[in-house]
Amino acid sequence: MPYILVIGSLNADLVVRTPRFPAPGETISGGDLAIIPGGKGANQAVAVARQGTSVAMVGRVGSDSFGPTLIQNLQNNKVDTNLVQISDSATGTAIIVVDSSGQNSIVLSPGANDKVTPADVDAVYFQDANMLLLQLEIPLETVIHAASVARQNGLRVILNPAPARSLPDSLLADVDILVPNESELKLLSGQSVTDIDSAASAARTVLAKGVKTVIVTLGSNGALLVTDERIAHIPTFSVDVVDTTAAGDAFIGGLAAALLKGKALEEAVRYGNASGALAATKFGAQPSLPTQDEVEQLLRR
Ligand code: ADP
Repeated sequence: MPYILVIGSLNADLVVRTPRFPAPGETISGGDLAIIPGGKGANQAVAVARQGTSVAMVGRVGSDSFGPTLIQNLQNNKVDTNLVQISDSATGTAIIVVDSSGQNSIVLSPGANDKVTPADVDAVYFQDANMLLLQLEIPLETVIHAASVARQNGLRVILNPAPARSLPDSLLADVDILVPNESELKLLSGQSVTDIDSAASAARTVLAKGVKTVIVTLGSNGALLVTDERIAHIPTFSVDVVDTTAAGDAFIGGLAAALLKGKALEEAVRYGNASGALAATKFGAQPSLPTQDEVEQLLRR
């Protein structure tokens, strides 16, 4: 059966709502702590699995109590966790404070995600997989190695360059589809990205570094598909927006699952838009990731 590999991060998101952010040295009272499974790698693996597609996660959790919770959560979502290892360290966590206006302030502690090494990649059997999804919440040398090995084994490589950072051209040359948002594209191209024309121009600059296809996610403006041959703007769906957290992860899940099912690029971007739009209608990250039925229903509308 065709399947997707995700090599990336698993985090426990520790979320507390407060009336306002505390000042330095100040203690304030907040609401009850919510512990929510997160991390871009795990979110994208769940996004793919909810589209009815086989997916295996490669990554690390820590030897604390969060580790088994995150692994169990992936299993509950039908993600294969045989390649998730337990490191002798803390699990990756994001400490998130949300104020009454919905603004958030986040401290990320990479923990075990920082221990995902090129040797972990070498332990993976790539031959049976069809596609690799990568993000940038594990060490860059591991991402570079994974893209290279996947390319050698004939997998399609999709890189979501988040959180934003500059990348070596050697990595970009191993990427089939790069999926940045506007700020990530700005950083990678060194050009300002303010509208569709400037996004197209910046995407062309990144294509020149060796990426085959760039798909820029544009929030409520949908996505821009840019290859050497063409530029296509694909609008998203109009929805009642509640919280756009994980819209990008949902987009990648919808896109990757559709490509694996043999859809053409432009059609797969429509699946991505539908998934991203649906994720924006619900609160939170993983709880908002849509199912295959929900996406197909929106696409028919
Ligand atoms: P990120 O969350 O990574 O910054 P975007 O904000 O670009 O990514 O969102 C990813 C995708 O989710 C968009 O390309 C779009 O398809 C969908 N999306 C995001 N926000 C909205 C919105 N307000 N309305 C409809 N679709 C949205």
